[in-house]
Amino acid sequence: MSHSDDPLLMIPGPVEVSPAVRSSYSVSPPGHLSSAVSAAFSRSLVAMRRVWKAGDDAQPFILAGSGTAAMDMAVANLVDAGQRVVVVETGYFSRRIAEMARRRGASVDVVAAPAGRRPAVEEVTAALDRGPTRALLVTHVDTSTGVRVDPEPLLAAAREREVLSIVDGVCATAGEVFHMADWGADVYLTAAQKALSLPPGLGLMVVSARALAARETLATKPPMFLDWLEWLPIHRAYEEGRAAYFATPATNLLLALVAGLREIEADGVEARWQAHQAAAHGLRAAWAELGLELLPTAAEAAWTLSTLLLPDGVAAGDLLPRIAAHGAVVAGGLHPDVRERTFRVGHMGYSVTRHDFLERTVEAVALGLADVGRGATAEPALRALRRAVKDAAATA
Ligand code: PMP
Repeated sequence: MSHSDDPLLMIPGPVEVSPAVRSSYSVSPPGHLSSAVSAAFSRSLVAMRRVWKAGDDAQPFILAGSGTAAMDMAVANLVDAGQRVVVVETGYFSRRIAEMARRRGASVDVVAAPAGRRPAVEEVTAALDRGPTRALLVTHVDTSTGVRVDPEPLLAAAREREVLSIVDGVCATAGEVFHMADWGADVYLTAAQKALSLPPGLGLMVVSARALAARETLATKPPMFLDWLEWLPIHRAYEEGRAAYFATPATNLLLALVAGLREIEADGVEARWQAHQAAAHGLRAAWAELGLELLPTAAEAAWTLSTLLLPDGVAAGDLLPRIAAHGAVVAGGLHPDVRERTFRVGHMGYSVTRHDFLERTVEAVALGLADVGRGATAEPALRALRRAVKDAAATA
């Protein structure tokens, strides 16, 4: 929990962590072969399959590194030089994964939408049909635009064509609905510091049996640290309760991971998705009351963050420090096409279970707007927040 004098961290990751998570990792670094780390590793692998809604034959990987390392791992294990991939571009992070595929020597067909929109499914299937395709690369929620794709029909299209799939769930996993097994995704990856509500420093993914088999056929091996085949025996050993070594894991973060996954499962992952939905609806109602507009349409907007248009004539450099002074740190724009016109509020993980955090955030934004001469008042926005959160919870 935040100290009441500290502003809340309401950026799109890292986010606030729960008291239980915070105390889980605030210990002297345990050894990677210790029983505490072995137990945390093993339980986390089992819990990941459940939180990801993955099948028993899917393989979770836990990697020291950020979300970008997880993206690199997924791309390096599935994509070979000379192969063709299709990227669904909904923002800055889809551009990043496209560049990773290019660096592997793949030819990349990008299906893009303007910043704040997503391409139609038919545009993506048309791209898949343009030539033999190794993989479809999708960003579940692009954190620069706040756009969520609908993964299910995209993954169905990939499966029908025997195309592998990578879904970047960094700003989504445990915050947005995702059924890895039922939807047939091959890799669903995330990072610790988003809707899992952990400190940064872990890349996480679950990989289908089909994708692991595809790794075996690569002509160019991935860099050693990123190679699933180096890590596979280590993960299997830990899952069977035996510690093993290939490269040193982030031991404190493994303690945090098992605590965080336990909290999510105590609520139920479906309840967590629903809490993100309720928070998003509540905040959207509050933003509207404050005269703020989302960049994406309501249908395409994520539950995990709000990418908001700055009021005309207001610069992020003026507004954001005022909002922070009133108690919530929010983020500036990121996508180059809209960087100067947007700011972003993250609402994921532990924070969406704390309605007082959501209220403090709305209040800070209202007071910040008032400071820059936008005359907003917090009370009507807070009422709209409470009403919409309640309605969303009632209709769940
Ligand atoms: N993908 C998405 C959708 C993200 O939001 C981010 C981080 N904001 C990343 C990838 C990269 O993750 P990291 O910053 O942890 O490397």
